[in-house]
Amino acid sequence: MKDYIIIGAGLSGLVLADKIFKSKLGSVLTLEKSRGIGGRVATRRTLNTRFDHGAQFYRLKSDSQDYHQLWDAEKITHQWFVDNEVEHWCANIGMTALTKSIAAHLEVQLESLIHTIKYENAYWKILSEKGEVWTCRKLIVSAPLPQVVQLLERSALNSLLESEEGLKLKNIHYSKALIALVTLEADILINKNGYEEFPMEDFFSLSDQKQKGISPLPAITITMSENFSEKYFEESDEIILELILSELQKKFPAAKISGSELKKWRYCRPISTYNELFLELTPNLFIIGDAFGGASLLGAMRSANALARTFIDNFNQS
Ligand SMILES: Cc1cc2nc3c(=O)[nH]c(=O)nc-3n(C[C@H](O)[C@H](O)[C@H](O)COP(=O)(O)OP(=O)(O)OC[C@H]3O[C@@H](n4cnc5c(N)ncnc54)[C@H](O)[C@@H]3O)c2cc1C
Repeated sequence: MKDYIIIGAGLSGLVLADKIFKSKLGSVLTLEKSRGIGGRVATRRTLNTRFDHGAQFYRLKSDSQDYHQLWDAEKITHQWFVDNEVEHWCANIGMTALTKSIAAHLEVQLESLIHTIKYENAYWKILSEKGEVWTCRKLIVSAPLPQVVQLLERSALNSLLESEEGLKLKNIHYSKALIALVTLEADILINKNGYEEFPMEDFFSLSDQKQKGISPLPAITITMSENFSEKYFEESDEIILELILSELQKKFPAAKISGSELKKWRYCRPISTYNELFLELTPNLFIIGDAFGGASLLGAMRSANALARTFIDNFNQS
């Protein structure tokens, strides 16, 4: 039995859990389906090195200021580059170090895929796929919205999706992303920053993992465009990698590829956003995440910060 349970240990879920914990609002538990925390903040050790294959950086703005100060004090982050006068920062050993730092003092249970939720006698009952059961007063879901919709459908809470708010949630769709992690025999010059986006091309972005400081070897993360990713998402890994690597050779004929691996994100970024920073879908059931605050780490933090502020205000008034 907890005061607050948060489904999803991505950035928004962890920021909210941290603020509840630090403001002493009550007990809080975060439940995560994966083996690790971070969600779309993801670092993978492979091909004898390290790659960020989700978010590459966070922008330094007011929404990221408080966590930035914490990460900076812990010396786990550094400025990567400045673009349009905005500072872009990344973690020294991969972006998951940032989410791990937030989670260090939090109660997070991994490998707990939440299958159903049920409202019973003024409490939410949460059941995992493995049959574990928890109860709480306030339940917060921070998963990408299609996964929230699936959870509500499995829970026979479809009627909540028929409301005006529910219909808006159902209409927020996500782009897919195909990602190639590539090691090279020698460096290639992407641009002076080591990060570039390519509007209108098959590549969405190229991110130099050595230049950002997380790989000792020449290594790049290639994120394919929304159109390319949608078109080839269901193809075999082999075919997709072949297509991506041949695009890379066309762009950088001198590049010598020494290793490669594919990663797929079914829910990369929300294509549109909800018109509020969070939603209380029914009493004591809240939904947060980048579909509310904006499709970025800043947006995930903005959404979590807004709900935390509401919880703190309500707590102070009661
Ligand atoms: C390839 C890629 C590159 C990106 N690059 C950048 C970038 O450079 N800079 C930037 O600012 N943003 C970037 N973004 C966007 C950014 O990563 C996201 O906006 C942000 O991480 C979203 O955080 P979130 O907490 O809202 O959701 P998520 O990180 O998706 O967290 C949701 C969590 O819920 C869990 N979950 C889902 N369903 C269940 C369930 N039933 N039971 C238990 N757990 C569940 C998931 O496993 C996940 O851990 C990128 C995203 C991708 C995919």
